[in-house]
Amino acid sequence: MIHHERLRPPPYDYPADEWNVIEKAFHPDFLAQLETVLALGNGYLGMRGCPEEGGPNAENGTFINGFYETRPIVYGEEAYGFAKTGQTIVNVTDSKIIKLFVDDEPFWLPNARFLNYDRRLNMQSGTLDREILWETPAGKQVLIRSRRLVSFVHRHVAAISYQVTLLNAEAPVVISSEMVANAPSAHTNGDDPRRASVFAGRVLQPRASYAKERRLVLCHTTAKSQMILACATDHALETACPHTSKAVHTEEFGQVAFTIEAQPGCPIHLTKYMVYHTSQTASPEEVCGRAEWTMDRMMQQGFQKLLVAQEQYMKDFWHRSDVRISDISEDRFKRTTVEIQQAIRFNLFHILQASARAENAGVPAKGLTGQAYEGHSFWDTEIYLLPFLVYTSPRTARNLLTFRYKMLEQARVHARHLGHQGAMFPWRTINGDEASAYYAAGTAAYHINADIMYALRKYVHATGDEQFLQDCGAEMLVETARLWLDLGFYSDRKGGKFCINGVTGPDEYKTVVNNNAYTNVMARENLRYAAETVASLRTTHPEVYKALAYRTALAPSEVEAWTRAAERMYVPYDEQRGIYPQDDSFLDREPWDFRSTPPDHYPLLLFYHPLNIYRKQVIKQADVVLAMFLLGNAFSPEAKKRNFEFYDPLTTGDSSLSSCVEAIIAAQVGDTEKAIRYGMAALLMDLADVGGNVKDGCHIASMGGTWMMLTYGLGGMRDDDGILSFWPRRAPEDDAILRFPLTYRGHMLEVEIGLEKVEYTLREGDSLVIRHETEEIRLTRKNPMAVRPVSRS
Ligand code: BGC
Repeated sequence: MIHHERLRPPPYDYPADEWNVIEKAFHPDFLAQLETVLALGNGYLGMRGCPEEGGPNAENGTFINGFYETRPIVYGEEAYGFAKTGQTIVNVTDSKIIKLFVDDEPFWLPNARFLNYDRRLNMQSGTLDREILWETPAGKQVLIRSRRLVSFVHRHVAAISYQVTLLNAEAPVVISSEMVANAPSAHTNGDDPRRASVFAGRVLQPRASYAKERRLVLCHTTAKSQMILACATDHALETACPHTSKAVHTEEFGQVAFTIEAQPGCPIHLTKYMVYHTSQTASPEEVCGRAEWTMDRMMQQGFQKLLVAQEQYMKDFWHRSDVRISDISEDRFKRTTVEIQQAIRFNLFHILQASARAENAGVPAKGLTGQAYEGHSFWDTEIYLLPFLVYTSPRTARNLLTFRYKMLEQARVHARHLGHQGAMFPWRTINGDEASAYYAAGTAAYHINADIMYALRKYVHATGDEQFLQDCGAEMLVETARLWLDLGFYSDRKGGKFCINGVTGPDEYKTVVNNNAYTNVMARENLRYAAETVASLRTTHPEVYKALAYRTALAPSEVEAWTRAAERMYVPYDEQRGIYPQDDSFLDREPWDFRSTPPDHYPLLLFYHPLNIYRKQVIKQADVVLAMFLLGNAFSPEAKKRNFEFYDPLTTGDSSLSSCVEAIIAAQVGDTEKAIRYGMAALLMDLADVGGNVKDGCHIASMGGTWMMLTYGLGGMRDDDGILSFWPRRAPEDDAILRFPLTYRGHMLEVEIGLEKVEYTLREGDSLVIRHETEEIRLTRKNPMAVRPVSRS
């Protein structure tokens, strides 16, 4: 239910443009939001969208995925098994600063007089472009053009092409290229638990600092996590104007200052290259050496080559991922087709930036656009992000699942620590250890185990990558199935059914409950998939089975026990209402008094004590409704409708993970009005700052959810039985045309849903079998296209 106006007008209006998010004037009030929206990243390195001049900044930030510092978690009252060590992503050396002085007058955005201002996130070239015409107080006109990129191809590299031209006069110009470590951060926890804790004092301890001509290298380590960071910058200046340069450096600061006698109409072109390398094992000298090798390569190849490679990367990305929409009815959506297309691409682009080169690391909830949630990754990755990646960038999906596999040993230790068998993946983590400081809405979210296995299954089915299943997946399945079997029990009071008590489901407004329906149905899938996989390996790949059984000390009787638990899984059901209660006690709770809740008291978690929230019927985010989407085949259309109608009025949507899922189910049950409202809220979550906290970073899960809304929701795509099928439905008033590509088993399929018909086209590959509703369709090179009528809903 939309209890409060979640869809506020955008705090900053971006002109409609299909490929760019454009800032047309400098808005000091929206500094923080724009830093997030215009952030660049590649999944390894992220830079908030702060101006080159080193300010003004709201919360400047440069992040390396997986580069964190630890701190003790301090509890008021300790208890056995609580996570002891917090992990927080570090705001690393800021290397992108380029200060400009004309006639010794600093170019400083808040004071500058602009004759032209244009800054844009260019989603076609993967760059942040700026063009400013500045008139100095002395009347000199200075054209400043910059282009910043964080390279997708070279993941340690970022670069800025910075051009200054005096148009109408000569003047002494200084361009000071700087880098700063341990810059004071404006980030505070405030009263919002979702923001990161900040470290007191310097996080980066100096190890080395040197200059070689125009190259600067600063090397630091973290005290506790023992991580090493080398950041190098180097410069190329091209101009016909006479110039000199000078470099200085300290432990935390580096500067190359160029002094130029600028002539009118004579461009000054500085290219700044920035390289980051990190390690936990190599020596500081070695890490500096690596940064220098990369830098040598960059200096040799130059900016133009980097840019061409970036553009090609983006072209490939859009070729496999772009979702296009046309002929939107502006009356119904209150946005133009171009605005909606812009928002779709913005979401997809930021997912790319969060995940593309996240190798040996997870995807933080905010990507690399902010420090909130401390840079931790959650189930957001597997349930919200992986579907998009599985069908557009399967290698990235595989990398993320491999990252989970690499933490399996820690998950085993974590399980033992909690007295369980098997493995228990951390609710929130950077390095694989549980970092949740609040067990009730953290460690108790056991469903993350099933979520990861759900994503594994989707990945294996969509790619056919059985090798991954054999090498990594099967072992994770064994250990997670063991966990469920150990955690649950056969309850006499529930007719001998398999019950799972003391868990927290997706709805964090109910914690440590018995038989959370979502958890139980997802655990059932996990158990089934584990049993199926092991049984199939045993007959088809006995050697692999043997090795797996040896590695995990697996007994055949365990597999039978998993099957039995899955068959006998208890799923709460209320006959009278015909709904699945969210958990055993949900229906006994007192309804939340929504009428007396002021609209500005959302999210509730910032205004009410948890006890108040926990004891009432009020939901933070889709829970049963999410299960109905993920396991669509397990719920009849009537059940979906009844459950949606029951849960929707109780759901606050206080988590950004909610709207996209509600939109999908609203569409499935024929509530078009809600589908559009929730859908738009999800689509514009970040561009329109729906949650009011975009300053803290992008909502990556919701961004992934928008892709699911378009493909699974509007496109009627289904895959939960392992077969790719489409059931597109059109309401009579629908007029939009939707097109999207999918990578499926090494082939590329394009789906176009028009007004009357749906077209399936095999774009790449030899032959592919899909389903249109219940009909099997075989697409081949010779007959690459099939056209079928769209059903009316
Ligand atoms: C949500 C979680 C989510 C986390 C990070 C919380 O507000 O309730 O489901 O994993 O944010 O996005």
